[in-house]
Amino acid sequence: MCGIVGYVGGKNAQDFLISGLKRLEYRGYDSAGIVTLNAEGKATLVRAKGKISNLEEKLAQNKTSDKIGIGHTRWATHGEPSETNAHPHKAGPLYLVHNGIIENYKELKAELKDFEFKSETDSEVLAALIESFYRDGNYPLVNAVVQALKLVKGTYGIAVISELQPEEIVVARSGSPLVIGVGHDETLIASDASALVGHTKRAIYLNDGEVAVVTAKSIEVKTLNAEPVSAKVEEIETNLAAIQKGGYEHFLLKEIMEQPNTLTETLRGRVNAEQGTVHLGGPGLTEAELRKIQHLVIVGCGTAYHAGLLASYYIEQFVPEITIETVIASEYRYRNAYIPDNSVALIVSQSGETADTLACLREIKKQGVRTVGIVNAIGSTISREVDGGTYVHVGPEISVASTKAFTSQVIAMVIFGLTIAQAKGVRSTMLRPYISEIAKLPEEIAKVLSEAEEQVKAITKKYHELEHAIYLGRDTAYPTAMEGALKLKEISYIDANAYAFGELKHGPLALVDDKYFEIALLPVGELYDKAVSNLQEVLARGGKVIAVTNNDKFDLPVENVVKITTELEIFAPILMNIVLQLFAYYITVAKGLNVDQPRNLAKSVTVE
Ligand code: GLU
Repeated sequence: MCGIVGYVGGKNAQDFLISGLKRLEYRGYDSAGIVTLNAEGKATLVRAKGKISNLEEKLAQNKTSDKIGIGHTRWATHGEPSETNAHPHKAGPLYLVHNGIIENYKELKAELKDFEFKSETDSEVLAALIESFYRDGNYPLVNAVVQALKLVKGTYGIAVISELQPEEIVVARSGSPLVIGVGHDETLIASDASALVGHTKRAIYLNDGEVAVVTAKSIEVKTLNAEPVSAKVEEIETNLAAIQKGGYEHFLLKEIMEQPNTLTETLRGRVNAEQGTVHLGGPGLTEAELRKIQHLVIVGCGTAYHAGLLASYYIEQFVPEITIETVIASEYRYRNAYIPDNSVALIVSQSGETADTLACLREIKKQGVRTVGIVNAIGSTISREVDGGTYVHVGPEISVASTKAFTSQVIAMVIFGLTIAQAKGVRSTMLRPYISEIAKLPEEIAKVLSEAEEQVKAITKKYHELEHAIYLGRDTAYPTAMEGALKLKEISYIDANAYAFGELKHGPLALVDDKYFEIALLPVGELYDKAVSNLQEVLARGGKVIAVTNNDKFDLPVENVVKITTELEIFAPILMNIVLQLFAYYITVAKGLNVDQPRNLAKSVTVE
């Protein structure tokens, strides 16, 4: 789930391992550790609970000039965050770091009777299992690793080293990413290419079911069945500026502010406002195939799910005779859901590694349904396994809370919807307003960012001490409210929930009291007056309301109002979401919390 790094070459291994782990910090973790080996195989193992700075402090007394090592940031799944549960785990002469979950660890542990387990983790069981094969002596390390992995159920990205072979690292993956950086007389390992930036531009992305033996000068990739793989060396696209804060105090603020540019990247070459047309090559569907689509399933988790929901509200406005079901991946993978003929599934994931979403993708493919990825991370597992897809091109998103990816996911899906509408011969007068608003969105976002920031900052001071928030909206402002509430709860820990305005009377209205505040989204449009009537019901019960609206004449007696001026109508909720992102950010800053790495959360959720 979290971070793996590894190094073998001529330089100081500890230096790369620490800097690599720092690059992966954004993914969220609770403890960290590294082990290095000297030329004789003597190991130096250092682990610490909490931040990498704790690990660095301990390392100060354990400095080595070793040239090989592996490191890990752990996001605990089995056993509390502690030094003993932190990786690397030792088993005899072996050391292992593991991302993922060994699902059958209990059964395996029961078999390993003579091993003295020190931690509560599933990962130590894998280390002991590999060692049980290695102990018999006759195997090179890789054979022991392969024997063990054949018995394992679950997900893993692993790196293993041995005191008896201090010149090689064995890595393997199944469901948890692993990248091998190809250097000059050195080889680097990482679970995420961002750790390699600045060290090498060339990388091999390991596939599920592959194992590799790497030394400073060689990389040998095989399948678990010992068939050789001729691995493709790919170019790492990320650059250093993209993974640094660039003058902002937090990655989250940087990523919110980047949206005019990142959305421009999403639109590049895909939207022609003058002609009123869109073009999307990636999904690889012919006009005839697009015309036939009658049903869309949109699959995602968290923010990606909200993006899908919002996109579905838009797409059904202009694609005739289509049904759209937006589903939560962790639920859908176990439902016995029927997907009708003439369906396409949109698979939405920023990282392209989300375990539940990936599992859905595989299930859906089994039914012979065409899949289209809406992914950010280039070369990620989902992007490689879908039939076709669209990269949103927002660059690395480092902060755990997703912002820029959301905006671009929604619009990428709407553009996909527009390509279906075009193919189905929907009149261009119907589609033009959507296309022309999309083309203007980056500029409008820039305007909102500069207009709303000070307004938002001024009001957050008042609300950061309250513990409950209700977000309200209808139609396209409803999924927007859901995403706004998620953003607030994940980084500020304020208990925030979203309701459709029309649902208020069916329950949530009972909550309104002085411990709550309410955020009301009021975009100008057909349902504006109805939303205002619903809002009156909240005000009549003493609700502490913050209204977000693009109606410059708005004059209801709310506590606060954030007014945005925009010529957009259809996509005004996207602009309101930008306001909600800023709101969550400034509340969290006011509370003095860790904005970029909220507690208990990880950036890309590669475990179930
Ligand atoms: N399941 C392992 C543990 O709890 C690995 C967690 C991770 O991916 O960081 O230690």
